[in-house]
Amino acid sequence: MILIDGKKIAAELRKELKEEVSNLKIKYKKVPGLSVILIGDLAPSQIYVKNKEKSAIEVGLKSNIIKYPDTVKEKVILDKIDELNKDETVSGILVQLPLPNHIDKQKVIEMIDPLKDVDGFHPINVGNLSSGYQSMIPCTPLGCYLLIKNIESDLNGKKAVIIGRSNLNGKPMAQLLLKENCTVTITHSKTKDLKAECLAADIVVAAVGIPELVKRDWIKKDAIVIDVGINKTDKGIVGDVAFDEVSKNAKAITPVPGGVGPMTIACLLKNTIECFKRSQVL
Ligand code: NAD
Repeated sequence: MILIDGKKIAAELRKELKEEVSNLKIKYKKVPGLSVILIGDLAPSQIYVKNKEKSAIEVGLKSNIIKYPDTVKEKVILDKIDELNKDETVSGILVQLPLPNHIDKQKVIEMIDPLKDVDGFHPINVGNLSSGYQSMIPCTPLGCYLLIKNIESDLNGKKAVIIGRSNLNGKPMAQLLLKENCTVTITHSKTKDLKAECLAADIVVAAVGIPELVKRDWIKKDAIVIDVGINKTDKGIVGDVAFDEVSKNAKAITPVPGGVGPMTIACLLKNTIECFKRSQVL
């Protein structure tokens, strides 16, 4: 069994990105900039944003966190995004989710210039990804994709089962694997026999939010198992896969924590650099 060490792979990616940023600095006399809008004081969001900023600075990006109280008016956020869209020093814009109820998430996402949409949530990027065109790719599925490719470079004809159909994870993950010529099945809460679906898979990506849902007898021998889930339980943070038992069957598996999580942040940095490079050739 191969333990897919997301921490290590993410550290290698960050090292490459750091080198790339220093080359871009020489070439363009400036560095990519990431602006993050953080609304309210939800503890997980505060921690995510802090980690994103730390990593951005480490690789040499310019980072800017813009904080608002959770009573902020929607228009203030939309105006700020408009200002950031026009600001040439800002390569990427991220609005940390979730948002307070009075702010329309879709309006906010659609306000971000698709060329600065480091999260890849804008409908133009979603459409481009599903059409197989160049697009910004949501960070978590991109991270999962890189982990899978790290284990197996040729995915032609593999059967992939994605558990979860969210816009954030399941759907873009399916598009990425489809592009690699996998035969992809997206499963969800109404799927009839999830175990049977998983048992047929060479690759299982679990993005559900149910602690240790995926069991050992759901996974065929030699499958690659990617666990996106982050679930708080009495025994600490666990994934959507029962790691201890599934790791006995799988060919390769990501741990939680230390699997997909570190890749998500590294891919955010990668996307910010990608936005910068695209803006330089326009
Ligand atoms: P979501 O709640 O938006 O979607 C969950 C999906 O799971 C839905 O499509 C639903 O149909 C499906 N589902 C629910 N119950 C099911 C069941 N019994 N069987 C099959 N499918 C079922 O969740 P999300 O935003 O995609 O996040 C999923 C998990 O990934 C969460 O634990 C979240 O915390 C975690 N997450 C991790 C990272 C990371 O960087 N590692 C990033 C984002 C989300």
